Amino acid sequence: MTADKKIKVAICGGGIAGLCLLYGLLKHAHLEVTLYEASSEIAGDEGAGVGLAPNAIRALRLIDLELVTAAENADSVFLTDPFATAVMGREPGFGSKVLDLRSKTGERGFLFQRSKFIQQLFKLVPQESCKTSHKLASISEQEDGSLDLSFTNGTTTTVDAVIGGDGVHSIVRKHVLQDHLDQVDPFFSKQYFYVTMAPMENAKEKMGDWFPELPIQYAWCGEQGFLMHDPANSGQTLQVLAAVQTDDVWGPDQWTKEKDLEDMRKDLEPFQELGRVCGDLIAEQGESLQARSVWEHSRAATYNRGHAAVLGDAAHAMQPWSAVSLPPTIPYLPSPRQAAGAGQAIEDAMILSTLFSLTKTPQDISTALETYTSVRLSRTHYAQNMSAENGDIIMNAGKFKGLNAAQLKEAFEFRWEELWYFDLEGHREEAVGRFKEKAR
Ligand SMILES: Cc1cc2nc3c(=O)[nH]c(=O)nc-3n(C[C@H](O)[C@H](O)[C@H](O)COP(=O)(O)OP(=O)(O)OC[C@H]3O[C@@H](n4cnc5c(N)ncnc54)[C@H](O)[C@@H]3O)c2cc1C
Repeated sequence: MTADKKIKVAICGGGIAGLCLLYGLLKHAHLEVTLYEASSEIAGDEGAGVGLAPNAIRALRLIDLELVTAAENADSVFLTDPFATAVMGREPGFGSKVLDLRSKTGERGFLFQRSKFIQQLFKLVPQESCKTSHKLASISEQEDGSLDLSFTNGTTTTVDAVIGGDGVHSIVRKHVLQDHLDQVDPFFSKQYFYVTMAPMENAKEKMGDWFPELPIQYAWCGEQGFLMHDPANSGQTLQVLAAVQTDDVWGPDQWTKEKDLEDMRKDLEPFQELGRVCGDLIAEQGESLQARSVWEHSRAATYNRGHAAVLGDAAHAMQPWSAVSLPPTIPYLPSPRQAAGAGQAIEDAMILSTLFSLTKTPQDISTALETYTSVRLSRTHYAQNMSAENGDIIMNAGKFKGLNAAQLKEAFEFRWEELWYFDLEGHREEAVGRFKEKAR
């Protein structure tokens, strides 16, 4: 391989992680980048709403301001202050406020439907840089570090580097962690959830007195689950999400499970009248409902192997209960759900784009990817741990079982500091410094 040849990079997966990375890498003329997506289009599933906290917005900006505009254009609801609030969703003290989360810096966050953001990101990249209906099947490492990729559609390609943004059941993760087989597969978090996006007017009618006065996010800490509602789609819809803990065993292929209305009603019973009205909205999906399972990864020993690496959910899938919330002022209670997965994926993409900008030859790739692991591992493990603990706090589980409102407040307070106000510029400088040190 010669220094004047372009470095050929494949990104597998067209979610938030893969698309942010693609945008970042396309800026560098010495790279030839192609994104391979398993689905027939890059659209993202409808899924749940995603909130981006201040760290995620700063990471987007560090890749390019255009990406912040893409988030703004995703029919976002803007988060201001207070950022988040938790409410008691169990007795004693049902309905009493646990905590308002406020922005220390006045920075804003966004809340949007994941698919809308993905569509906006996709608009920013040349369409020919993305190949759909290309599901990665296997990776084979060559002596010079290059990689042969095979796709389930029968095609193959050889690249200098492959980066997996291929989600929680990642193929690239299998390759990267082949010396740590016990860390490859995700495990079931013993949680499932129902989610619906209700037209706002309909929500207002159905919820009656329980309809939120202000367009922000509420999290109700329940008996063995939690209930959340927040606005999406420029305030045109209300997302209602009810998460439930379970002792049932769900198999690795069970991403969803059919539930009937009676099961769902029973799951929401602990939330009293609020549970009933939210149940009415969820019930509008039909007689049988899909409950979705929550999966997470154990903490990976590494995010790279040779010229391959993983980012986003492929690297560190975590419980989605640790991110952000929304605007205004008074009786409003945005949630301490801390879903940091997308935010961490964007930070990964920012660091990877920075490091790839420094690679001059294919031989620099291992150095770049080792540096990526060395700077990202502890931050993302921290986010995984915080998310798991937040899941316990918000759902009355583990060592956080049985807390009253005052104890819940104490448990929640300051849990966002490190995630939201982390010095990302410093993080990037550290990555550059370590790369240069290693490359000397
Ligand atoms: C209920 C819920 C709420 C959440 N809320 C928040 C939140 O508020 N804030 C936050 O930051 N995060 C949140 N998250 C987490 C966030 O949605 C994820 O962390 C993030 O979307 C992960 O993006 P990704 O690109 O890494 O993976 P994915 O979105 O899973 O994308 C992976 C892509 O790879 C493709 N793919 C899969 N296999 C292959 C293959 N073999 N070859 C090629 N392509 C492949 C898939 O089709 C998909 O397009 C939430 C998650 C859930 C479930």
